[in-house]
Amino acid sequence: HSGKYLVTGGAGYVGSVVAAHLLEAGHSVVVLDDLSTGFRDAVPEGAEFVEGRVQDAARVLDSSYDGVLHFAAHSQVGESVQDPGKYWNNNVGGSIELLSAMRESGVRRLVFSSTAATYGEPESTPIHEDASEAPTNPYGASKLAVDHMISGECRAHGLAAVSLRYFNVAGAYGRYGERHDPESHLIPIVLQVAQGRREAVSVFGDDYPTPDGTCVRDYIHVADLAEAHLLAMAAMHGERGDPGAGEVPAGTHLICNLGNGNGFSVREVVETVRKVTGHPVPETAAPRREGDPAQLVASAERAVSRLGWRPTRTDLAEIVQTAWDFARSRTSREEQAAAAEGALSGGER
Ligand code: UDP
Repeated sequence: HSGKYLVTGGAGYVGSVVAAHLLEAGHSVVVLDDLSTGFRDAVPEGAEFVEGRVQDAARVLDSSYDGVLHFAAHSQVGESVQDPGKYWNNNVGGSIELLSAMRESGVRRLVFSSTAATYGEPESTPIHEDASEAPTNPYGASKLAVDHMISGECRAHGLAAVSLRYFNVAGAYGRYGERHDPESHLIPIVLQVAQGRREAVSVFGDDYPTPDGTCVRDYIHVADLAEAHLLAMAAMHGERGDPGAGEVPAGTHLICNLGNGNGFSVREVVETVRKVTGHPVPETAAPRREGDPAQLVASAERAVSRLGWRPTRTDLAEIVQTAWDFARSRTSREEQAAAAEGALSGGER
């Protein structure tokens, strides 16, 4: 059954990879993105692009849509501590408007991009979905608030929804990958060091209660993550595409963690980058980053049993390799563009 889907935030990292997967599966895709952190050229070819905020979803949605995949949000933990209002306004405010537009247009299926940050400092590991929810920063709190809103919407108005709680998303899918400016996540930062674009990687804390003293995270490949979104959408469809006939019927809000269940320390990531790239990666010791739990590892048993999800790119070296290929191709594209620009302005002079 091919459908028509709205992808909010489809010019961003995860949203663009999911949009590409939807198109490859034969669906039609409309991307709504305000390009505040996304990139126009990251929107897959074949998707219709609407530049706008989630707050304006009502302008786009109508009953011809089979569902919404909602990625548009601010996602920097540190920034959320400095500027919490921005997170409440955009992440929660945008979702309020989106849910109301969905209700009014009769669009009854939602996949929401949630996060492990909703759990906060874990009491035990691996983290299951029934772990206590105590976010340690406004980013996690804003995502948890939206999860609560979605639960209420399902109960009151018969929405079917799946929230996917990501652990550390990494790697690239062909020309779709992680591009933050400035780069904020560990793997892209370490790759910049390997490329010589940055001098050293700062290791935030080496006295954590972990085997080598650095933080442990569960890195999941973005294409495995994308596949879970398509399975989640399929679980909300019945045989004939009726809402209410699938594994996740109308009125249900399913929450699933997405991770590999394997933890890697910051040191192991740096070492893997050295092996994959063949470049030296100098590191310097830095203080702990505020709000960083020592260890975050998922139990994704529920995604496996309820969605039939099966991650296949679980090897850290493979994940890093795809991110490395992406980083190098972007750099060569940027260099070509800069050279073309130089030739152009040279010619004008
Ligand atoms: N980290 C680090 N140096 C950096 C960036 C990140 O040591 O320059 C550590 C960070 O403290 C955390 C892990 O790498 O323990 C993963 O951080 P990232 O920001 O990639 O993802 P998060 O776990 O915060 O979602």
